[in-house]
Amino acid sequence: MLKMTQDEFERVFAERSKMTLEEYRAHWIGLPCGCADESCEGWASVRRGPDAINEHLDFYAPDPPRRMVVGKFENLGFFEKKS
Ligand SMILES: [Zn+2]
Repeated sequence: MLKMTQDEFERVFAERSKMTLEEYRAHWIGLPCGCADESCEGWASVRRGPDAINEHLDFYAPDPPRRMVVGKFENLGFFEKKS
């Protein structure tokens, strides 16, 4: 269960990193994270590029989804659901 939406995570992360949301989104994307880290918020900031995104989805994304076709991931309603 994700505590935040993707949008909320990206806003919080950008603020913590002293970036504007636009600066953050130009280089980074928030993706669901299934790592077992205690501090994990269910999201991870990943470099906005096919290699980094696919690597994250292969190794850290919770099920579902695992790998998705790059280019489609941003439009999936999955990321916006709260529960
Ligand atoms: Zn994590």
